[in-house]
Amino acid sequence: MLITAPVLFQPGERMRMLELDLDEPRFGEVRVKMVASGVCHSCLHAYDGSHQGIPMPIVLGDEGSGVVEAVGAGVTQLQPGDHVVISWAPTCGACRYCNLGYPALCLNTPAIGMVNGDVTMFHHEGADVYHYGPATYGSSIVVPESAAVKIRKDFPLETAALIGCSVATGFGSAVNSAGLRAGQSVAVFGCGGVGLNAIQGAVATGAYPIIGVDVLDSKLELARQFGATHTINTTRQDIQEEVTKLTGHGVDATIVAVGNIKALEQGLSILAKQGIEVVLGLPDSGATFPVDPWLLMGGERRIVGSRYGTSNPLVAFPELVELAVAGRIKIDELVTQRYDLDEADEAFRSLAAGEQARGLIVF
Ligand SMILES: [Zn+2]
Ligand SMILES: [Zn+2]
Repeated sequence: MLITAPVLFQPGERMRMLELDLDEPRFGEVRVKMVASGVCHSCLHAYDGSHQGIPMPIVLGDEGSGVVEAVGAGVTQLQPGDHVVISWAPTCGACRYCNLGYPALCLNTPAIGMVNGDVTMFHHEGADVYHYGPATYGSSIVVPESAAVKIRKDFPLETAALIGCSVATGFGSAVNSAGLRAGQSVAVFGCGGVGLNAIQGAVATGAYPIIGVDVLDSKLELARQFGATHTINTTRQDIQEEVTKLTGHGVDATIVAVGNIKALEQGLSILAKQGIEVVLGLPDSGATFPVDPWLLMGGERRIVGSRYGTSNPLVAFPELVELAVAGRIKIDELVTQRYDLDEADEAFRSLAAGEQARGLIVF
């Protein structure tokens, strides 16, 4: 069938709106008619060229929602008409990590640009078009069954798109990766789409204080709306001083939801003994920072990475939907701007300029 998608041919260039041929779903795959797609920072890295090794031409988009249109042979859990949130981490179901419940660590992850080891989209002359994960900017997409997670039909499908990356990643980073407990203190660096959800996760654990850290007052205002009890603007406040005032001895956890080396260094520097720094945001390819081993050994501090918030989308997405229905987390309020599909370039410009919590492309 024919679909429409913005296609990136070169980092730094505008995307081209093209009609593409989409393969029929094969064994174990489903075709989803997209309803909405979030505009994510990892796609921005591909768009602006700050992450290398991305095959082109490519359709971006790693968080979305839609309705199942067709199912391939061997699909057992989904049928046409089901409402689904797209996961960028299908489970192979066979490897150690999938069986432990961490499909984001799957040992059989398809090569970047592929779905199930192959491409499914082609432009005119039959040339391959790659997928950035599930490629949720396609008007319809084909994904493995495990990458389309069924949710209840009475939940607003449009904003449910955000559950597929920023909500699951941010919420899980606080609850699972940092393992926050009631009364522990936490600082969240970067109060955009992922950071605001880390704050919501921290609220759910009973952590206190919850400190939002950013360089933009507009983001810190959002942080307060999503549950931060305190905020620090590092362009005019000394983070060490402020954290010492608030906690006396540093924070129990820092969650760094921004791809910035300075934030990673600051996040480590304000950790209390036995504190944990959770690395979520990715700096430019190849960027590193020095770590004083004494800080780690002397105070039993830890630095850990977090992928998809250390969560299993098949379990986490329906849970997050229930939390949203119960009013325990906010999802609609994350959307600062809605875009048409052909405005994806503008959505990236706005994201790069720090203007939004989350932009949402609505099909
Ligand atoms: Zn993402
Ligand atoms: Zn696996």
